[in-house]
Amino acid sequence: MTCKIALAFSAVALLLRLAGAAPADMPSYDSPYYVIYSDLDTDTVREAAIRVTAMAEEYHQRTAGFAGTIKKKLPFYLFSKSEDYYKAGGLIGSTGMFTGQKLMAISAPGRGERNWHVVQHEGFHQFVQAVIGGNMPIWINEGLAEYFGEAVFTGDGFVTGLVPPDRLARLQKAIRDNKTRPLRLSPRTPLESPPQMLILGPLVTVPNFL
Ligand SMILES: [Zn+2]
Repeated sequence: MTCKIALAFSAVALLLRLAGAAPADMPSYDSPYYVIYSDLDTDTVREAAIRVTAMAEEYHQRTAGFAGTIKKKLPFYLFSKSEDYYKAGGLIGSTGMFTGQKLMAISAPGRGERNWHVVQHEGFHQFVQAVIGGNMPIWINEGLAEYFGEAVFTGDGFVTGLVPPDRLARLQKAIRDNKTRPLRLSPRTPLESPPQMLILGPLVTVPNFL
């Protein structure tokens, strides 16, 4: 499969330019894979552009065996104020979401990496819809979203495959308490019905071990 994602990170700053006004009256900026709408200062948007560029490349590299390519730039709205995020349709209490059309997030001061965890998680759902398509089972979609959500940004790329210590501790406790059970999964395993959704929490960890 030909990889169309080949732009260097250093090109991001050059490509980042004011591209017009968003519906929410926010300036828009072009980046390699996203059109970023943001009322944040240009330096912050530039940093965000570098990060989402690396994010898209990581999604692509790790799913290259079955995903397509980004054919159309994806919309990413990054708000400085939570009230504007909620006004634009953000779920109350959330700091980021994929609406089915656009990725939205609040750039909340002080939340740092936890904020980006949400963007990386929700951004994967957007990538699935735009690039992978099909009816991906919810446990794979959520599991991989968490997998990418936990990825650590190094400044020019991501380190993936890290199991969060608290999640590992919960799993180890479940093993100690004899609360685990054998599980036979296939990509076709449907887990959308309410009783099955009860085990979704533990299952989102599964892609870490695939
Ligand atoms: Zn999710």
